[in-house]
Amino acid sequence: MKQLIQHEQCLRCRECCRFREDRQYFAPLFTASEIDRIRAKRSDLPEFRPFKESDRVFQIQLKRSTMPDAVYPYVCPFLDEENYLCTIYDERPFDCQTWPFIVHKVEQTGSTLVAYFTGDVCLALKEVDPADFEEYQAYFVALVTSEKYLQVLRDHPELIWVHNEDGVYHTVSLADISTALSPESDAAEPPAAERRDQ
Ligand code: SF4
Ligand code: SF4
Repeated sequence: MKQLIQHEQCLRCRECCRFREDRQYFAPLFTASEIDRIRAKRSDLPEFRPFKESDRVFQIQLKRSTMPDAVYPYVCPFLDEENYLCTIYDERPFDCQTWPFIVHKVEQTGSTLVAYFTGDVCLALKEVDPADFEEYQAYFVALVTSEKYLQVLRDHPELIWVHNEDGVYHTVSLADISTALSPESDAAEPPAAERRDQ
């Protein structure tokens, strides 16, 4: 999928891929087939555990940071901390590819929304050209509301981030996909990761 944020911006921010706790809710999620794709390319897989007891979606076990001045003590084991690079970039899960855009469900209303975290969370959004940002929003909504991706969410509902709206979430909603999610159709898998420069 297309990328909006450039690696140079992430190098200045370094918010993603590292965590305050070893079992943080935000730790990346992988479908079984995404894990298989990574396994086909490397044998040294870290530990994954079922997410919410699912047998289709798994959360990676974070590891301790090796950086002496680490702000966050835990990191994704696929992160090259020195260069701040994802070592499985081409195979990283869809859960990582979409950031800072998300699909989330608000518990109080039951609505499932396409949204993005604001520049208070993802600093790079403050630097993005407004026209590029608008174009990317349209692209992302079209992607998530395509039948292929809706089916991915139906098959892997654990990928939808569920939260209580009393919490502090700096998000802007783009579309309500609650109704579109309900029909049934054939199984599907998230699209494989594509290179950032494509
Ligand atoms: S929060 Fe945004 S700018 Fe910061 S590292 Fe993540 S994607 Fe990059
Ligand atoms: S898989 Fe890659 S992009 Fe995702 S959290 Fe780990 S290092 Fe970051």
